[in-house]
Amino acid sequence: MHYWSSKPDKRFRPAGGGTLDQELQLPALSPRVEAEVVARMLSRDREAWADQAARVGHCSKPVRLRGRTLAVDTRTGQVRTAYASDWEESGVAFIRCGNRRESVCVACSREYASDTWHLIRAGAAGGDKGVPTSVAEHPMVFATLTAPSFGLVHSAKKPGTVGSTRCRPRRTKQLCPHGRPTWCMTAHGQDDPIAGQPLCHECYDYDGHVVWQYHASELWHRFRTALGRDLARRLAIPATRLDEVLSIQFAKVAEYQLRGIIHFHALLRLDGPKDVGAFAPPPVHVSARMLAEAFRAAARAVTITAAPAGDDQEARILRFGRQVDARPVSRTAREGLDTQDLSPEQVAGYIAKYASKSADDITPTMRDTPHVKAIKDTVARLALACATSVTLREWPQDSKGRRPYETLGKWEHMLGFPGHFATKSRRYSTTRAAIRSERRRFQIARSNRDHADQLQDLAGTDPGQDADEETTLVVGQWEYIGMGWVTDGDAALATALAVWSRDHRREQAAARRHLKTETASAAESEE
Ligand SMILES: [Zn+2]
Ligand SMILES: [Zn+2]
Ligand SMILES: [Zn+2]
Repeated sequence: MHYWSSKPDKRFRPAGGGTLDQELQLPALSPRVEAEVVARMLSRDREAWADQAARVGHCSKPVRLRGRTLAVDTRTGQVRTAYASDWEESGVAFIRCGNRRESVCVACSREYASDTWHLIRAGAAGGDKGVPTSVAEHPMVFATLTAPSFGLVHSAKKPGTVGSTRCRPRRTKQLCPHGRPTWCMTAHGQDDPIAGQPLCHECYDYDGHVVWQYHASELWHRFRTALGRDLARRLAIPATRLDEVLSIQFAKVAEYQLRGIIHFHALLRLDGPKDVGAFAPPPVHVSARMLAEAFRAAARAVTITAAPAGDDQEARILRFGRQVDARPVSRTAREGLDTQDLSPEQVAGYIAKYASKSADDITPTMRDTPHVKAIKDTVARLALACATSVTLREWPQDSKGRRPYETLGKWEHMLGFPGHFATKSRRYSTTRAAIRSERRRFQIARSNRDHADQLQDLAGTDPGQDADEETTLVVGQWEYIGMGWVTDGDAALATALAVWSRDHRREQAAARRHLKTETASAAESEE
C-alpha cells in the first residue's frame, strides 16, 4: 500500500534523520485500519500528529498522559508551567514505551540496542562514556557458553558454513525407539519452520531442557567463580587472594537458539584489583590467551547438582555444552581482514543484536510450534509437580531461602529461563541510565522548540534549557490515560515510519562498510 510518493511531506519525517524520499510501505491492512490511515492523512491536525509521533521516535505503543510539569523557583517561589499536555493539539502527551524487544516496538528496541552498543563498545575500546582508551590494552575475549544437547533437532546451517549443508546426514540409517529416523538429508533455510524442532518429540528430554534452562544463570555464576580460581592457579596464587591482583569485568547476553534454549555470549575483560580504582590495568603477565584458556577450562569444569524435578525423578548434574568458544578482542582487529581477533565494534554489534530479542523472537514462525508448546507444557507441569513434591520439601533451600523450582511457573513465557537477558559487572563501563541522561541533555541542547524537550521525561527532572538546577524544583502532575495510539491506523503509520527509519539506517551502515572495505583494499593494492 503506497500513500505518498510524489511529494514527500517533511512533517512525516523518519525519526533520527534522513528524508522520506521513497514511498512509505505499509503492510497489508484491514479495510478499517486502512480507513483510519486515510482519515489521519486527511485530518486537519495531521502535521501536529506527525510532529508528536516523531518526538517519541515513532514508538509503536506510547503511553498517553494528561497533565503538566511545573517548574518552581525555590528562591522566589515563582511557579511556571514548563510543559502541559494542553499545549498539544491533541490535548494529550505521549512518552515512549521503552520496550527493549523488537517484536513489541521497533523504535524503542532500536534505541535500546543502540544504547547497548555504546555501552559494550565503550568497555572494549574506551575513549567514550568516561572509559579510558587504555582498557583496549587489557586482555579481553568474546566467549560463548552453549547448552548441552537434549535430543536431536533439525538444524539450519548458516550461510558460509563449511561442509555439507544437509541437516543430519548419516551413513547408517537408524530408527529411534519410536520408529522415527535419526537422520535428515534436507538442507533447511534459516527461516524453515522445522529448524530447531526435534527429530522425535518422544525422544527429546524436555524435563532436562527445562531443568537446565531454569539453572542457567546459576551455572553462569558458578562459572565466574571457577574462572577466578582457574586464573589464580595459572598465576600461582591462592584463589582467595586473586582480588589483590586482578578483577574480572564482563558484559553478557542470553540468546535463544532455534531449539528454544539459551546460549550466553560474554565479553570478558581483565582489570587490575578493584581497590586500585575502575579501569586499572591488570598485571603485565596476564594475556588474552591465558584468559581464553582459563575460560575454556572453567566452562568445562563447572557443574550444578539440580534437585529432582518431582518425586519420580533423580537429581541431575548440569553443565555447559561441549562447544565453548573464546576469541580475543583487540582494537587492531578490523572487519573484513583475515584475523582471529574480533574488534570492539563487532562484539558490540553481536551483543546489541541479541539484547533486543526474546523467546518470542526466535523466529516469528516458531512461536507456536509443537516444540515450543511442549517446552511450555513441561514448565507448567514441573512447576505444579514441584509444588506438591515430598522430596523437594526436604531438599535444601537456595541462598534466598527458596525451595527448588519454586518460581519456575512464572517463567513460562521465557521457556523456563528466569535470568536477566543482558547483564554486566558494575565496573564494565557506563550505565544505561547515564547514557539515557546524556541523550536527554543532547536532545535538549539540540532542540530550540520551547517544550519539545520536556516530553523526553515528563515527570522527570529536566526543567528546561535555561533553568538553574540548584534552585528549580520540578513537579510533575500527570494522569495516565492509556497505552498506545488512539487508533490502529495511527499505530500502523508510526510503526511503518519506525521500520523505514531502521531499514534506512541499516542501508547507510552497509554502504559505509562497503566503502571502508573498498578503501582498505585499494590502499592495500597500492602498497
Ligand atoms: Zn516504544
Ligand atoms: Zn532436518
Ligand atoms: Zn524417538
